[in-house]
Amino acid sequence: MRRRRSYRPRGVSHGGRGTECSLAIRATTLCSGLRRVLDLLMEKVIIVGSGCAGLTAAIYAARANLSPLVLEGRQPGGQLSTTTLVENYPGFPDGIDGPQLILNMHQQAEKFGARFSYSEVTDFEPRNSHVRIKADDEWLETQALIIASGASARYLGLENEEKLIGHGLTSCATCDGAFYKNVPVAVIGGGDSAAEESLFLTRFASHVYLIHRRDKLRASKIMADRVFANKKIEPIWNTVVTRYVPDEKGEMRAVRVRNVKTNEERELPVACVFVAIGHDPNTKAFAGKLDADPEGYSKQSPPPDRAVPQPWTRRNT
Ligand code: NDP
Repeated sequence: MRRRRSYRPRGVSHGGRGTECSLAIRATTLCSGLRRVLDLLMEKVIIVGSGCAGLTAAIYAARANLSPLVLEGRQPGGQLSTTTLVENYPGFPDGIDGPQLILNMHQQAEKFGARFSYSEVTDFEPRNSHVRIKADDEWLETQALIIASGASARYLGLENEEKLIGHGLTSCATCDGAFYKNVPVAVIGGGDSAAEESLFLTRFASHVYLIHRRDKLRASKIMADRVFANKKIEPIWNTVVTRYVPDEKGEMRAVRVRNVKTNEERELPVACVFVAIGHDPNTKAFAGKLDADPEGYSKQSPPPDRAVPQPWTRRNT
């Protein structure tokens, strides 16, 4: 039988050193056998994130018989699971609720063999032949890693912020809006999220202050027009929140705001503040180990170099 070249260890010739050589060959054969066993035990594809980018990757990987493992993280379904009607996803002329769209994608991926785990990635080590990632407390090895970890809601960084989250401070109107029936609330931000949250909140709240630091919305025209047409929404222009004002029970009672043009300060009585000022990427576990843009988003991977396994990043656009 012809011996495969790769079984011959470097620097060992076959002439005159039979025993040494055959030991070396056995050791190398053992190593390569172990490698094959490890490859069998190793995941073929791990996908970090279960928003629409992660689930799309899961559907494709599962249909390629790669049995992908999806690490769902702390917010299964990602941001779509906290949104209301999605009107711009192709194939749904009447729109579809974000959570329903996510459930459909999840079901579709599972049908083809994708597996799911709620664990959260905390560390990452690229190796020559594979990638290691730490999911909760367990290290997992995978031949390929797809990063679709998305982003988390940004907050203002004001005093008492952490304490007030869940006590009249939130970033998710769909999750918490229904708790604030017939009371005034505030939304901070001027983008599509702020517009969407404000419109949604008009179903419950008596009045919605839309507090924006400029005098023009960043939101798309169609969303801005809906906001302006809704009598329950009052835009508060050129204004920033300087302080949250809790009541004696630690629940939100009001916000202190300042007009950035006039410096005039006043208090707006609100039972809840919905912060909608954008998102930060969930790339902490990969920081310093993968190329990132100035905002911290991992750069899109170049076309794959099959000789060197590398993580893939997917961004939902
Ligand atoms: P954006 O980045 O678009 O908007 C963030 C808003 O928050 C901006 O108006 C910004 O002000 C304001 N802001 C940022 N930081 C602060 C701060 N520290 N203090 C006060 N205000 C601040 O984020 P969105 O989450 O709204 O949208 C993200 C993307 O998702 C967009 O592409 C959007 O179109 C899309 N989207 C689409 C929806 C839809 O089609 N239904 C729904 C929701 C989102 P400024 O304008 O001055 O920069």
